[in-house]
Amino acid sequence: MLPSATTVGFVPGERNVFFHILTACNLSCRHCYINPDQHGRTTLPRATMERWIELFARPGQPSNMIFLGGEPTLHPDLAHGIARAKACGFNVTVDSNGYLFHDLLDRTSPELLDYLSFSLDGPDAAVNDPIRGKGVFEVCTVNLRRAVARGFAVSVIYTVSALNIDHLERMVELLAELGVRRFFIQVIGLRGKPAQDGAICKPGGEETQWQVSPDQWLGVVPEVARQAANAGIHVTYPKVFLDRSETFECAGLVADNFFIFPNGRVYRCPLCEDYPIHALRIEEDRLLVNKGLTEDRFFTLNIAEGCVMNKLLQPHTIPYDAHGIPQSRISCCLLKQEIRPPLR
Ligand code: SF4
Ligand code: SF4
Repeated sequence: MLPSATTVGFVPGERNVFFHILTACNLSCRHCYINPDQHGRTTLPRATMERWIELFARPGQPSNMIFLGGEPTLHPDLAHGIARAKACGFNVTVDSNGYLFHDLLDRTSPELLDYLSFSLDGPDAAVNDPIRGKGVFEVCTVNLRRAVARGFAVSVIYTVSALNIDHLERMVELLAELGVRRFFIQVIGLRGKPAQDGAICKPGGEETQWQVSPDQWLGVVPEVARQAANAGIHVTYPKVFLDRSETFECAGLVADNFFIFPNGRVYRCPLCEDYPIHALRIEEDRLLVNKGLTEDRFFTLNIAEGCVMNKLLQPHTIPYDAHGIPQSRISCCLLKQEIRPPLR
């Protein structure tokens, strides 16, 4: 029997710090969510990066630090940041596009870096490279193999969109062959480039919606996740739709998440990142609360559709019946489901 999914509830008291240490990147993925007009173009100086890590550290409290960019390995002091975060008590992850600049594997270790995540949006170059760039699949998988061989715990992130959902099932064989034991499936969000392009992408000049329908998502993702788990891979994917019996919770109210950008903006909700409504900011290395119409004002609104930011930003994703009643509620984008491999 194939294993089944469980919902991963928000863990009270657990702190997740998503730290964008720069916005520069060597790639220009079609669906890039980075928005330099909103997030700045700064590469944080080493000393600032260190002070901001310390600002969010809570020794004794379960805490995760995820280093992001842009491409975080372009930062010459990433290895230093990893070591500092570890010393401050964080579990440390780096999310990379796979290029691993500045000899990252030589400059850090599996003891300091708990997870090294590689982004792949297809099981081969024919699917991945039209989305992420020519030659990217080759570089990413070569470096992934090097990381596995060096003993790093490696995971893969796959962003599901209309361009690659039909190829998701072939990832299972690839991940098993690469020796990857952790797989994160994400859903394309309307942030950054997809939002600026009106949710339309143009593969081969033909216009297509980026987003997949609820039927496509539910018809493909849970089944592929089950198959991956059966192949020994621990899979995590967004919940997206809540069953009638499930309680809606907004992570902005019940979880301790921080999305930090190099211009000092600190968001509590990733869906808000294209807008200057961040709840917090860092000024002179202090964390300050913003006043006015900030994202946290929205978190308390209780609506039939579930997530209020989804309703505001992507209302077309919500199906309604003939009486205008939403057919399903949209969960918090940070609520996940997971399937663990069966015990053998
Ligand atoms: S690797 Fe990440 S930051 Fe770079 S272009 Fe792609 S999505 Fe954007
Ligand atoms: S995605 Fe929706 S539910 Fe989750 S933190 Fe943002 S506003 Fe709240």
